Amino acid sequence: MKTIHKTDEAIGFLPLPEDKGKPITVIGTDSIRDSFDETCLQQAVNSRLAPGVTDVVLNPDGHAGYGAPIGCVMVSPTHIYPGPVGVDIKCSMSLLQMDIPEDVIADKRTRRALIEAIVERTPTGAGRGQRNVKKGRPVDRDLGFKVVTEGASEAVCEALGIPLEWAGRCEDSAHAGHDGSYDALRSRLEWILETHRIKHFGDKMSQLGSYGGGNHFGECEITRIADRPSMRETADVFGLRDGHVSFLSHCGSRGFGNLLATHQFKDLERKFEAWSTPYPAGDKKLVYAPLGTPEADAYLDDMALGANFATVNHLLINALVLEAFQEVLPGAKGGLVYFISHNIARQEIVDGKKSWVHRKGATRAVPGGHFSLHGTPFAQTGHPILLPGNPRDGSVVMVARGGAERTAWSVNHGAGRQMGRKHAFRTLDQKSVDAEFDASDILTNCRKYPLDEAPDAYKNFPEVLRSVEAAGLAETVAKLQARFVIKD
Ligand code: 5GP
Ligand code: MN
Ligand code: MN
Repeated sequence: MKTIHKTDEAIGFLPLPEDKGKPITVIGTDSIRDSFDETCLQQAVNSRLAPGVTDVVLNPDGHAGYGAPIGCVMVSPTHIYPGPVGVDIKCSMSLLQMDIPEDVIADKRTRRALIEAIVERTPTGAGRGQRNVKKGRPVDRDLGFKVVTEGASEAVCEALGIPLEWAGRCEDSAHAGHDGSYDALRSRLEWILETHRIKHFGDKMSQLGSYGGGNHFGECEITRIADRPSMRETADVFGLRDGHVSFLSHCGSRGFGNLLATHQFKDLERKFEAWSTPYPAGDKKLVYAPLGTPEADAYLDDMALGANFATVNHLLINALVLEAFQEVLPGAKGGLVYFISHNIARQEIVDGKKSWVHRKGATRAVPGGHFSLHGTPFAQTGHPILLPGNPRDGSVVMVARGGAERTAWSVNHGAGRQMGRKHAFRTLDQKSVDAEFDASDILTNCRKYPLDEAPDAYKNFPEVLRSVEAAGLAETVAKLQARFVIKD
């Protein structure tokens, strides 16, 4: 059994075998610390000891993942790790704030009409895209090519009817290729299409503006701003409106990102085998590429292509959700609060060194005054952090505090799973899960709520939040109270 040494109420560390270097920082109160199983801790150690890795942080939502735990941050100045970025490249959260007072949607019929209007534009489910909905936006192959090689550029936003100012509300509105150019992405995509590495490219592009399946969701909320004057000012800068309707979205790069990532895993495994290079801790899910090699360049280009898809996917979903609100409630206005990822590697300065920060189920958390936010609307306050919890216990918008320096400017990305999907189906009871939604007056588009997605399949969200605040990483700016959920 590995032991986490507690140094503070919600901070601890996991030493490395033979104390070989900087230990793993672990965030979480006592009960959260007990929630990490042996596989999760072993994966954290494997990731920390992998070549070129200088730091690993395990967040309160941590649980076993693909090679590295979901809910971890992995820092390397010299290597890139595709596994820890994951198959859903740039899976992200976004929040749309509406000017609709909460009582306008008190009536169930209004909420039913909104669900209807939204699912007519943004489909859910594996493989589904704009072609499967009545009121979607057609996205053809050529526009798709532009989307994934330019991200949310002016031309792309205009072609898709995305308000241009929303690009300024993204953690990153566009990702360039390995050499900082967009030409690199165009050549890479041309090669991908010529070699038929990705088939049915047009189909994949028509999935822009869709959620996909599993844990991805759209959720209608009531924004409740925290009752402290400083938080009210921050909420103003974020564009939040107390007691008004908002909409939270969770999804990533769909089939396109998935294919790019799985091809990369296979490419690198093949090279490791050919070169007889040992996998870190014998786990092929931790394949890597040293920066500057053709393998690293190819991965960084593919990651950027997938990330551009995810970015425009979210912005288009928000434009379609806004349109749906306006169909049901004419004259309604809304604006994007923020769009932020939890499955991406970003180049950042950590401890004075330019590094790739891999956030695997982790969210960037940079406070006001930090140089990386200069020129953004959030230079003074820090950027919005969007943390989903579960529909019953709510979600939150947070802002980073100085304490996040010790976690490579990161926090968790949600509550985190405490039950595997099979375990949830075996132990949770459909009637009680559905009754809980009825009792909280939360509607859903599902006839029966998926048990593997039920609130109790996830960790105790209030305790996760307590961990983040007690560790001094971030503070709650607003709570989001769910009114309806759209899931596959
Ligand atoms: P991921 O699937 O990206 O690893 O996790 C996202 C996080 O979203 C989970 O840890 C969980 O806390 C949260 N989550 C999952 N489903 C829902 C939902 O339907 N509503 C809300 N508000 N949060 C959810
Ligand atoms: Mn995802
Ligand atoms: Mn996700």
